[in-house]
Amino acid sequence: MELTAPVNKVIPFSLVDGPGSRCSVFLQGCNIACAYCHNPETQNLCLGCGLCVEQCPAGALSWENGRVRWDKDACVQCDTCIHVCPHKASPKIEWLTPGEVFETVHSYQPFIRGVTVSGGECMLRADWMRELFALCRAAGLGTLIDSNGCVPFEEHLDLLDVADGVMLDVKAWDEGTFARLTSGDVCVVKRNLALLAERNKIEELRIVVVPGWNDPEATIAGIADALGEKTATTKLKLIRFRRFGVVGALANANSPTDERMSELEALAREAGFGQVELR
Ligand code: SF4
Ligand code: SF4
Repeated sequence: MELTAPVNKVIPFSLVDGPGSRCSVFLQGCNIACAYCHNPETQNLCLGCGLCVEQCPAGALSWENGRVRWDKDACVQCDTCIHVCPHKASPKIEWLTPGEVFETVHSYQPFIRGVTVSGGECMLRADWMRELFALCRAAGLGTLIDSNGCVPFEEHLDLLDVADGVMLDVKAWDEGTFARLTSGDVCVVKRNLALLAERNKIEELRIVVVPGWNDPEATIAGIADALGEKTATTKLKLIRFRRFGVVGALANANSPTDERMSELEALAREAGFGQVELR
């Protein structure tokens, strides 16, 4: 049977998912649950509870072979299904082969430098991504992975062979803080950081600054310590927490101030980062 992955959406041209204009592919399903997730509906695969099928005002959802079927053409993009879903899932996905996604990406080739696969957590579909990247590379397109770092890259070295690099989140440094923020294990992120640095596969590192929830000072210092002399050539992006789309404990939380972001930028430069960007 052909390998498929649950594709949530494909953005033809993105300027924020790596260098140049890129086609961004978003996969459904994640292995952690961040308190500040902006797209909580991408966290889980549909459990088939049926709630959204009854609520769709356009009749775009139905049952087919035990799965919810989404009729893309009938959908009016009202997002009622996402609002009623109690499982942080979306019925608006398509199970596609690497070849099918490549055809879409390839149709934009004159206007893009490459493809970036994101999530959810795209590393949950590493074999699928490897096939997609092999097709993209053969066509002369760049290939980037956007990952939360919570899947061990050491188990997917063949994927790294066809990936130009990884945009890696380092959401916190302390084990307890990381677990409280994401429900994940920071030890895996730290192992990935070391492995990707060793293989020169870090495209950029990202820290989202969430007041009162994570430890950006410790994270900056920890990364610099782990990277050693490679810190100077590593790009670090410091991202301001924004509440847009966030549900749960952080739905009404404040963003860090400009002063706080500038303070962290200065700290990162002092720690040796040659490229620091605020977003
Ligand atoms: S967004 Fe969801 S609820 Fe709205 S029309 Fe599309 S499938 Fe139906
Ligand atoms: S998308 Fe959510 S509400 Fe709809 S059937 Fe799946 S789990 Fe139920």
